[in-house]
Amino acid sequence: VLLIEFKEVTKVFQGLNGSFNALDNVGLSVKKNEIFGLIGESGAGKSTLMRFINALEVPTRGHVIVDGIDVSTLGSRKLRVFQKDIGMIFQQFNLLNNKTVEENIRLPLELHKYEKPLSVEEVLSFVGLEDKRYAYPGQLSGGQKQRVGIARALITRPKILLCDEPTSALDERTTEEIIRVLKRAHQTFDVTIVIVTHELNVIKQLCDRAAVLEDGRIIDVISIENNAGET
Ligand code: ADP
Ligand code: ADP
Repeated sequence: VLLIEFKEVTKVFQGLNGSFNALDNVGLSVKKNEIFGLIGESGAGKSTLMRFINALEVPTRGHVIVDGIDVSTLGSRKLRVFQKDIGMIFQQFNLLNNKTVEENIRLPLELHKYEKPLSVEEVLSFVGLEDKRYAYPGQLSGGQKQRVGIARALITRPKILLCDEPTSALDERTTEEIIRVLKRAHQTFDVTIVIVTHELNVIKQLCDRAAVLEDGRIIDVISIENNAGET
């Protein structure tokens, strides 16, 4: 079952020096329950491509279909409902420093109403941070901050988890720790994961398939055999 489909997607940004094709006629499909990677050098268009999936960007030409919906046709109210089911984690974690771990994790629940969210206890225990509930981000290591980011994304039980360079601010050991948490999240919550990274080892350890981007084009799609079913 296809969950995400890009059909001939082109994105043109207008700048001071004329127009610029950030994405050029991109076709792509991600299956339900896949862990899909987007890899390429800085400026290749990875983040732009990922932002189409939750409709933070709208294509200049072409269509982005997510779960059967052409996202560029959604009005603002339906768009917000659609975006509720997509979680995101970030390179710099994007935690609010003046709020506790628990308050950070609860934030999505304050923005929208969810039928069956997980509890703070469940997500904290899932990421192994029960003892940091009342701590502030400033008291946490990078890996712990990213675990809080993951807990915040998972509390809403998202259909899709978008990860923008989730390990790029972390050392090697912590990177492997976060990869393991993401794999467990995938198995436990049946979430489809799309991850942007410039680190090939992250793709190899985590992803089922990955698209290689260069200058706004997909130049290759690779399958990583050994990851199916592995913990
Ligand atoms: P990557 O994530 O692979 O580093 P990006 O998707 O961030 O690449 O950017 C691709 C290209 O598009 C870059 O050259 C970037 O400067 C440009 N770009 C991204 N967003 C915008 C924007 N809002 N306006 C103009 N140019 C942009
Ligand atoms: P990343 O670390 O994800 O590659 P970037 O520095 O490429 O981040 O982009 C950060 C933000 O700035 C994004 O929201 C992107 O759309 C915007 N951006 C990137 N390049 C440009 C640009 N040339 N003009 C305007 N906005 C840009």
